[in-house]
Amino acid sequence: MKRVLLLGGTGDALTIARRLGPDHVYSLAGLGRMPGDLLCSVRAGGFGGVEGLNTFIDAESIGLIVDATHPYAAQMSRHASTAGVLKSIECWALRRAPWQPQAGDDWREAADFADILHAIAPYKHPLWTLGREPLAHLDEIPPSQHWTIRCLDLHPGNARATIIAARGPFSLDGERALFDAQQTDVVVSKNSGGAATEAKLAVARERGLPVLMLQRPRLPQVEREFSDTNSLLNALEAWLHPHSLFDKTL
Ligand code: NAP
Repeated sequence: MKRVLLLGGTGDALTIARRLGPDHVYSLAGLGRMPGDLLCSVRAGGFGGVEGLNTFIDAESIGLIVDATHPYAAQMSRHASTAGVLKSIECWALRRAPWQPQAGDDWREAADFADILHAIAPYKHPLWTLGREPLAHLDEIPPSQHWTIRCLDLHPGNARATIIAARGPFSLDGERALFDAQQTDVVVSKNSGGAATEAKLAVARERGLPVLMLQRPRLPQVEREFSDTNSLLNALEAWLHPHSLFDKTL
């Protein structure tokens, strides 16, 4: 049996998972929502490093790993590629293209969190949109700043921080209203790519605001890379059913 292990954590991964039949496994880190309406099996939580992933691959007779994790989930991607080599199975990856700056953008690249803190020092109202990491730094917010932190987690704020638990996609008008309400004067972002969360960049451009862009991590080489879900789904179709062009469920 040809069995696929799909590593998720993105909307694109969910799109692929919706096409997978019951033979296949969709794996999530367990940080967000668990879809309850898929034909494939769904599991959540870490495997226990490369060793745990190898054990899982053996136990579940996995024949192909598809890495559709977030571009910043580099550890999971590294483990997937290493396990593929060790188990002599292919690892494919969906690698979403990064956003590119346009005329009028004022993007500044940041190497890490410390770099971001240094770069936002002159600003009063940063909007953080890179996940839960700033939640661990609420006690370090300088008196001159009020942070707005948008992430998936519900978390209490404090006198210097407003936490907004929200999941994209975000609209242009919604982002404009957020920037107005929070008096945003600088945006902190990952370069996630894709349409779901890019409206904030357009609003920053309209207003001439700087965007601190956290550098993308280096990702491992894999056997096949795809830049969009359709080409990956077509390749999966060919891998699973080399003699049929018309299967709807993979
Ligand atoms: P990571 O550093 O690559 O992964 C940490 C560990 O989480 C992995 O080693 C693995 O544990 C487990 N893991 C991650 N993805 C998994 C999956 N699909 N199935 C099973 N286990 C998985 O990634 P991260 O800590 O989750 O996130 C790193 C960055 O990516 C953060 O900035 C985060 O905001 C962003 N991000 C992640 C996700 C996500 O779903 N992971 C979604 C959106 C954004 P074991 O070593 O035990 O196997």
